[in-house]
Amino acid sequence: MFNLNDYPLPYRETDLEPYMSAETVRIHYGRHLATYIANLNKLIANTKYANMDLHEIIIGSANNPGEQNIFNNAAQVYNHQFFFNCLGRGNNAIPDIMSDAFGGVSEFKEKFKSVANSVFGSGWVWLIHNGEKKFEIVATKNADTPIAHNQKPVLTLDLWEHAYYLDWQNRRADYVDRFLESLVDWKFVIDNMNM
Ligand code: MN
Repeated sequence: MFNLNDYPLPYRETDLEPYMSAETVRIHYGRHLATYIANLNKLIANTKYANMDLHEIIIGSANNPGEQNIFNNAAQVYNHQFFFNCLGRGNNAIPDIMSDAFGGVSEFKEKFKSVANSVFGSGWVWLIHNGEKKFEIVATKNADTPIAHNQKPVLTLDLWEHAYYLDWQNRRADYVDRFLESLVDWKFVIDNMNM
């Protein structure tokens, strides 16, 4: 059984204001993530997945069309707990390794924004670490997740409408900008690179 308490927020709901409202954090974490967890628990009960960890469930169901529901909910649990850990305040200076890898801070931001803004409908934008100073920025659709493709994510942004609509309505590009300028916990990203 998965439990929301296994994925605690590393900050209080109000800590991301004014850049992300407490209401957005509360509903996104407390209802959307909680629902993915509840759905996953129901779907895996009495199946071979019942005692597997999240990563094993995602890999096991990824290429099985009959298990699309299991994959979607498991991947959304992974994606959301990862996303909530990417957010923070006070560690927002882009590290040198990123400007080195992309040819500058503004080049990194432009590339990230361009991939994020190219997503049509629901999905995610990811920074993938390919070792040492090699990175790429990729988008996934719906619940799809880099760990199903043997890629190592170090940063993500949720592009589903529920992630930003209360704060930004239709202005998704402004949400992407605000994330890059004020909400990325770069210490978490660096820690991921070193794991
Ligand atoms: Mn979401």
